[in-house]
Amino acid sequence: MSGAPDMFTLSDDQIAIRDMARDFATAEIAPNAVAWDEAKHFPVETLRAAAALGMGGIYVREDVGGSGLSRLDAALIFEALATGCPGTAAYLSIHNMATWMIDRFGSDDQRARWVPQLATMACLASYGLTEPGAGSDAAALKTRAVRDGDHYIVDGQKQFISGAGASDIHVVMVRTGGGGPKGISTLVIPADTPGLSFGANEKKMGWNVQPTRAVIFEGVRVPVANRLGAEGEGFKIAMAGLDGGRLNIGACSLGGAQAALDKALAYMRERKAFGQRLDAFQALQFRLADMATELEVARTFLWRAAAALDAKAPDATKLCAMAKRVATDTGFTVANDALQLHGGYGYLADYGIEKIVRDLRVHQILEGTNEIMRLIVARTLIG
Ligand SMILES: Cc1cc2nc3c(=O)[nH]c(=O)nc-3n(C[C@H](O)[C@H](O)[C@H](O)COP(=O)(O)OP(=O)(O)OC[C@H]3O[C@@H](n4cnc5c(N)ncnc54)[C@H](O)[C@@H]3O)c2cc1C
Repeated sequence: MSGAPDMFTLSDDQIAIRDMARDFATAEIAPNAVAWDEAKHFPVETLRAAAALGMGGIYVREDVGGSGLSRLDAALIFEALATGCPGTAAYLSIHNMATWMIDRFGSDDQRARWVPQLATMACLASYGLTEPGAGSDAAALKTRAVRDGDHYIVDGQKQFISGAGASDIHVVMVRTGGGGPKGISTLVIPADTPGLSFGANEKKMGWNVQPTRAVIFEGVRVPVANRLGAEGEGFKIAMAGLDGGRLNIGACSLGGAQAALDKALAYMRERKAFGQRLDAFQALQFRLADMATELEVARTFLWRAAAALDAKAPDATKLCAMAKRVATDTGFTVANDALQLHGGYGYLADYGIEKIVRDLRVHQILEGTNEIMRLIVARTLIG
């Protein structure tokens, strides 16, 4: 674990980690991002190459193949990767979240069984919480797991599952008890278990580099040995995963927006109107200054929330919700402004800007919508 010497200065290790991820994004991801989006190609081999550099289990313990890094390190990595393609970085974020849940809440046997293959990404993971009738109100989920000897029989449906159809392991929240959050447990379910099937790959506005499918469970027999933690602890486990997931998604928004701002700067240096370069118009210079400032504000606050999660601070969940809301709203606005600064060319796929805007839009919706982020913060204020 590499801690920052102070809150606002990265250590030499952290700079090296960030540069490694940035170089990988520049060489392996960015040149392909527009084509992958167009072809709806899920770049599994590239993800495995990222895992070979330690990015498959970033904040997972080293005895099972993880990198043992901090949440702040992870935020640096996801921002850097997302400069190449936010959708690719975001799938890696979900994989890391599910892998961490097994490492953090699994027994030694469960950790040894699943985490090493997840850390190398020989196996890919998905996170299954949302259902057709339970999104924001996730504790209303209905997928049932009924005990039958040393197995559970699982019936129900998960909706919008990232990676589904390509991933090997599903970390799924199911109802083993009564209504509400205390009746929920977490099961690790291999994708090839009989009775598990998938809906069609959803047609989406963005995130086309990764599949999104419904996951259907019909009489799926899952060993009780695949349950993480005790019965009834599943909602707590799911929410713990999301604290870090929200930081990562926020970081992906920052990376996408930074790439969009950099593209706008380069474009405005070349493009002329009314006899001068676009970057000579003071109105546009002020816009650029605001974009850079808003991004830096969001980034600085996201690091603060990551440091709080690393320190297991009592207000870490609130800070992660604040950071997710600020970073994803800012990221979308900055990317959309960068598109505007490209004029009509920003709307063309070849310039790579419209893809970033489409990818970042969903970050305001998933891992808890930004309305739900406000709900989490408001609860801490009002009680
Ligand atoms: C591309 C994509 C990938 C996804 N990947 C995953 C995944 O891998 N795993 C997974 O489990 N889920 C995933 N999701 C699901 C995502 O987390 C949910 O879509 C999200 O939580 C919102 O749920 P919902 O769509 O049911 O919207 P609803 O809950 O129906 O919300 C509709 C609107 O009402 C608002 N709203 C709801 N309740 C309140 C309230 N109390 N106060 C104020 N406003 C409220 C919401 O903010 C939203 O604007 C993904 C979604 C998408 C689009």
